[in-house]
Amino acid sequence: MEIKLPKKALVTGAAGFLGSHLCRQLLSEGYEVTAIDNLFTGNKSNIYDLMDDRRFSFVLHDVTQPFWGQFDEIYNLACPASPVHYQHNPVETIKTSVIGMMNILDLALKTKAKVLHTSTSEVYGDPLVHPQVESYWGNVNTIGIRSCYDEGKRCAETLAADYRREYGVDVRMVRIFNTYGPNMHPKDGRVISNFIMQALCDEDLTLFGDGLQTRSFQYCSDLIDAMRRFMRLSRVDVDAFCVKHSLGSPVINVGNPGEYTIKELAQETLKLLPDSKSKLVYKPLPADDPKRRRPDIILAKELLGWQPKVPLCEGLKKTIAYFREMV
Ligand code: NAD
Ligand code: UDP
Repeated sequence: MEIKLPKKALVTGAAGFLGSHLCRQLLSEGYEVTAIDNLFTGNKSNIYDLMDDRRFSFVLHDVTQPFWGQFDEIYNLACPASPVHYQHNPVETIKTSVIGMMNILDLALKTKAKVLHTSTSEVYGDPLVHPQVESYWGNVNTIGIRSCYDEGKRCAETLAADYRREYGVDVRMVRIFNTYGPNMHPKDGRVISNFIMQALCDEDLTLFGDGLQTRSFQYCSDLIDAMRRFMRLSRVDVDAFCVKHSLGSPVINVGNPGEYTIKELAQETLKLLPDSKSKLVYKPLPADDPKRRRPDIILAKELLGWQPKVPLCEGLKKTIAYFREMV
């Protein structure tokens, strides 16, 4: 009888918000998981409960340094995602995106591992096309305060596309639209964690600008589901899909197309926390803040047979329950 060994996965950025959910999902599917993180924005508390699992190992490691190991699948999530964090040390952010991506792709090339890279809706910048389709090239400032993240992620996509074309590395990419849920850092600085923490602490909710800019919010379990579906596909099927849709490389939007103004999000948050004494206050809009964002998910639906399941109200309730434990 043939003994089937568990598949081995490497997750970078594993102690972060999304990485921790992904590790949990992979373990539940029987994977052996090696988790690496430099703990810049991640926290070991997100993965403490996994440490006792002998199929899980954590390595304190910075992806700007090469990493060695034999894996079937690599999930590249290492990179600060909140504007506050990625602007804290912009040069480190670029290094993480670009050198980190090269290190991961070199590892995949040597070991024939399959890679899933987490790109972002920020590659569209302040988009002039709405909703955003994958074929749109974006409207990005190269020298602004968001550029370290946007251009770093754009360069990572270019590297992935070239390693695939030149060297045949099996790399797939998801452009993630604003995703939220438990395990976000309470002081992360992103809008949902800010609003919930502010409302729970009776502090005023800070709306940047007029609050009429829009975002589309995806609950974390929907994203993890899409990522796993993408990785389960065979290379042949992914390649055929790319040819059919004239995609230079396998990259798809993953997000929830429900679009809300930031003011509507603030009102929805306060509706779910009726005892809060918080009010809305207006603060200056940060530079280059995108005005409208909504994913076109036609490709993800066709390729993955997927669509988001968790409505904003339900996801917010779960996230509020998580943050309530922290105040
Ligand atoms: P996060 O900040 O919670 O997690 C990022 C993790 O990467 C952290 O644990 C951090 O310590 C780690 N990290 C950062 N630099 C590193 C380095 N040089 N070496 C090793 N580890 C490093 O953010 P998240 O929301 O979980 O995002 C995960 C990935 O998804 C990121 O690549 C992000 O760009 C992408 N993404 C997230 C969203 C979202 O809305 N959450 C949207 C688009 C893209
Ligand atoms: N925002 C806000 N108040 C906050 C934090 C963010 O009004 O306390 C706005 C921000 O200006 C942006 C939107 O909410 O227009 C989403 O911000 P976030 O940092 O979550 O993610 P982004 O999509 O900008 O990367």
